[in-house]
Amino acid sequence: MPIYTPPLRDMQFVMHEVFNVVDEFKNLPPHAEVDADTINAVIEEGGKFATDVIFPLNISGDTEGCTLDKATHEVKTPAGFNEAYAKYVEGGWPALSCDTAYGGQGLPFVLNQCMYEMMNSANQAWTMYPGLSHGAYECLHAHGTDEQKKIYLPKLTSGEWTGTMCLTEPHCGTDLGMLRTKAEPQADGSYKITGNKIFISAGEHGMTENIVHLVLARLPDAPVGSKGISLFAVPKFKVNADGSLGERNPIFCGALEHKMGIHGNATAQINIDGAIGSLVGQPNKGLAAMFVMMNAARLGVGNQSLGLTEVAYQNALAYAKDRIQMRSLSGVKAKDKPADPIIVHPDVRKMLLTAKAYAEGGRALAIYCAMLLDKELHHPDEKVRKDSGEMLALLTPIVKAFLTDNGFDATVMCQQVFGGHGYIKESGMEQFVRDARINMIYEGTNTIQSLDLLGRKILGNNGATLKKFGKLVGALVQEEGVNEKMAEFINPVAYLADQMTKFTTELGFRGMQNPDEVGAAAVDYLRVAGHLVFGYFFARMAQVALREIAAGNTDPFYGAKLQTARFYFAKLFPETASLMRTARAGSKPLMETDLALA
Ligand SMILES: Cc1cc2nc3c(=O)[nH]c(=O)nc-3n(C[C@H](O)[C@H](O)[C@H](O)COP(=O)(O)OP(=O)(O)OC[C@H]3O[C@@H](n4cnc5c(N)ncnc54)[C@H](O)[C@@H]3O)c2cc1C
Repeated sequence: MPIYTPPLRDMQFVMHEVFNVVDEFKNLPPHAEVDADTINAVIEEGGKFATDVIFPLNISGDTEGCTLDKATHEVKTPAGFNEAYAKYVEGGWPALSCDTAYGGQGLPFVLNQCMYEMMNSANQAWTMYPGLSHGAYECLHAHGTDEQKKIYLPKLTSGEWTGTMCLTEPHCGTDLGMLRTKAEPQADGSYKITGNKIFISAGEHGMTENIVHLVLARLPDAPVGSKGISLFAVPKFKVNADGSLGERNPIFCGALEHKMGIHGNATAQINIDGAIGSLVGQPNKGLAAMFVMMNAARLGVGNQSLGLTEVAYQNALAYAKDRIQMRSLSGVKAKDKPADPIIVHPDVRKMLLTAKAYAEGGRALAIYCAMLLDKELHHPDEKVRKDSGEMLALLTPIVKAFLTDNGFDATVMCQQVFGGHGYIKESGMEQFVRDARINMIYEGTNTIQSLDLLGRKILGNNGATLKKFGKLVGALVQEEGVNEKMAEFINPVAYLADQMTKFTTELGFRGMQNPDEVGAAAVDYLRVAGHLVFGYFFARMAQVALREIAAGNTDPFYGAKLQTARFYFAKLFPETASLMRTARAGSKPLMETDLALA
């Protein structure tokens, strides 16, 4: 049976020692009183919920899956899921970082980030039910009418209702401009929605009395393409004026998808047969409104893989210390045993350290992004809010794609550490691999993330936000440039930042002559950008560790952090050179292949 221990020490290190979040919160009026004790107590309790309540349901949920009663259209989630959700609500967890105006606790997103990392480690499929609701909450909070906010936000905040995002249709996933679901205006100001959605996560279940579906659809006179999409809130049960539940809305689960992983989450085909909904945001501006939810979900999906990376690593590490097989190349290590533990073998160590580095780099990036979100929402200075929002927009596709690509590699490597036992269900490792795979696909595939990063977020503004990230690197070089001990961490990052500037300009020129050049380079480019970001955070983590060790702190945590950073810079970071080389090979080897792909 797999094990999981919440990585509280590492979270505290990142929050308190690397980013000094409490000092940052002092500048944000709603969070000015949040202190380290509160933060630590919340994540400790959150860790207990993850390990005690939902982790024990991970394997059973995967084995049992969800079932649909075709007569009633109701979905039964795996045993224990509903009870775990009730405990989640009872503990007030859905409200953690929701607005106090709607019954929320108003705590920083940084805390929500840590909570979700732990829940994803414990049970990704279960965590998607509240995860999507939180996205729906954010979307309605940003774009809902006063009436919609009054009806939906208190219920989503308390967790009494959940939310979904209904974008995908059978003929369109990436290209939402082709969607066909129709919305007809009614005399009373509501809309009658008709269409078919597929692949809707948490689309039907019995955990709550109502589900708020956020549905993309077209108005009768809508322009073609993505400029003609509107967003609607369509509840499973209509809501009466006094807030009580009314009649069942004809928005039904027609079937459940049979899929590779996340079996405990109901991936629903949703048939909408004239269901009544209300418009969210402006007509034909639905994609812009939905982007609030999509951006939250993109960060959330990166976080899913971060959670899986951590739990897979913990299990592989324990196994590698216990499993004995062959002798070490450099001489017997466990004389009292017939063979040495496999952790002595260099390649096993490489697999373990890769997963560890991906988890620790990912955690630093994810917490940094949550901090940016807190600043974007609450900093009194408009310029700081704007800069934080822009930086978050730049980093979002990196969180989504880099963390999920890394997460898949890490879970496969951790499975590999188990040898054949990793392939057998009992170890739990193959489930981590299966669950991690979807994260590279949904919420915009990782290819689409890379096009968003290079095409829109970087070349689209002439690299302005990337330059701002370059300034962070520059500031670290300025601060530590004369510190010889930091050279091994800072020099590679400074070098890559410089290379990235030239690389980006070159791709920009090539892209102007032939747009396929951008498409051909984007995936490699995002990975290079991911390493630039990870490299910067590993350098900052090493900076703190070196400082503590120099001050006489003997906690082995700091030595471990330095060793992981050294491994990262020696064995993972250098792939940037080959990625830049393959990106520079351009579009020709891909596009001039009519014979090869005939
Ligand atoms: C388990 C699961 C849960 C999901 N949950 C939800 C949900 O809750 N709500 C929801 O609305 N949807 C959901 N989805 C749908 C998911 O977001 C889509 O599957 C995904 O966005 C890709 O769309 P598609 O499957 O139609 O693939 P397509 O759009 O057909 O893409 C096929 C391939 O072509 C590539 N491609 C497409 N366009 C380009 C381009 N311009 N340049 C380069 N490559 C391109 C893609 O990257 C992909 O590799 C879910 C899917 C699954 C499997």
